Amino acid sequence: MDLQELKTKVCDAGKMLLKEGLVARTWGNVSIKVNDTQMVITPSGRKYDELTPNEMVLVDIYTLKYEGNLKPSSELKLHCQIYKTKPEIGAVIHTHQMFGSIVAAAQVDVQVLDENHQNILGGKVIKAAPYALPNTKKITMATAKAIENSNAALMSNHGVVCIGKDLEHVFDVARTLEKACELFIESKKAIV
Ligand SMILES: [Zn+2]
Repeated sequence: MDLQELKTKVCDAGKMLLKEGLVARTWGNVSIKVNDTQMVITPSGRKYDELTPNEMVLVDIYTLKYEGNLKPSSELKLHCQIYKTKPEIGAVIHTHQMFGSIVAAAQVDVQVLDENHQNILGGKVIKAAPYALPNTKKITMATAKAIENSNAALMSNHGVVCIGKDLEHVFDVARTLEKACELFIESKKAIV
């Protein structure tokens, strides 16, 4: 796939986040790995419904240098860290999806109760990374650690990050995480 096609895919995925209600509160971000050293990510500070493929930003995973006039998403460090530590990952999305954000605000790990959800999420527990200021090294490293053994992690008081082998997979992870978080919240209500 050439770079232009990848940029179109990232742009469409950004719009899909909005359409599916995965970025209800504020914007999230999407990236795809181009090769071992580069990724394409959504830009910072642009409305998703107005995005065009040419506004997607090509970033060097190791140096964080980027091409073009638009800045890459402010969360780019986290995306780069994930691609560096998990070579099998091809796509990353960061969202503020509702149920995921509720559990992230509670700063608790999610027990994934449904077996189908466990398969898609790659584990029985989705960990909550401890709170740290956005875009800092601390939050980047804490989140990368929380996602070590599954396809998703919560970022305390903020949102979630999901990873997958490609865009289709990562969207499946995000949707499934939403169902798993809802089920987890409901199960807690059933007990009290
Ligand atoms: Zn965010």
